Amino acid sequence: MAKKPIIIAGPCAAESKEQVLEAIQEAKKRGVDFMRISLWKPRTKPGFEGLGEDGLELLVTAARAGVNPATEVIMPEHAKMAMTAVFSAVPKARLMLWIGSRNQNHYIQREIARVAARDKRVILMVKNQPWSNEDHWEGIVGHVLSGGIDKDRVVLCHRGFMPNGVNPHGYKNVPDYAMAMRIKEKTGLTMIFDPSHTGGAVAKVLQIAREAKRYDFDGVIVEVHRDPVHALTDAKQQLTWKQFDQLTV
Ligand code: PEP
Ligand code: MN
Repeated sequence: MAKKPIIIAGPCAAESKEQVLEAIQEAKKRGVDFMRISLWKPRTKPGFEGLGEDGLELLVTAARAGVNPATEVIMPEHAKMAMTAVFSAVPKARLMLWIGSRNQNHYIQREIARVAARDKRVILMVKNQPWSNEDHWEGIVGHVLSGGIDKDRVVLCHRGFMPNGVNPHGYKNVPDYAMAMRIKEKTGLTMIFDPSHTGGAVAKVLQIAREAKRYDFDGVIVEVHRDPVHALTDAKQQLTWKQFDQLTV
């Protein structure tokens, strides 16, 4: 890892104003680069799907506090809304938008990239698809870049692949470190690691974060919640801030 690692931390989903305010204080203390304030949550089965537009003000609150927000966007309209909300209130802020693993419509991927391309204050993170396939992963990168965004504002994220039978550690999504490193090499893009959606349970998140250090990732995105057991999404895998502090990246 040549440069300073990128650290993104915060709850899986923004659930309430109080929860996000508390997380902003914790994130600020630790000087994270971006804080997860996810407003739109695609779920495996219907459930809490995030605060949506009602939560845009929370992105602004973080930016006003000097903590750069990060949120998943599912549609180009979400990207537009988040950019307008944050930059009209806090022109100095930076904003991370990301395309999640389930969002595998290449047309939508390119349109989101097109919107993100318009403003240099936006970093676009792109996660790999849920199933293991190197061509598809390269294809996502190609579609995103065809939206015209500068390569230095695109960050890739390895969040593992759905287990296909070979899963000795019992991870929720199995990393393919070699593939991630090849994609990093072939694309020349920054590549971070997601120990939360690979690990899937606290002990495994800590374990896989250590394991991934052997590879040349450029940072991490970690789910951290004030009260993980009662989290509305991904309760099993979210760390407390104390546990987060045990990860030395
Ligand atoms: C997330 O990061 O909130 C998420 C849903 O992860 P993924 O898209 O990797 O499943
Ligand atoms: Mn999650």
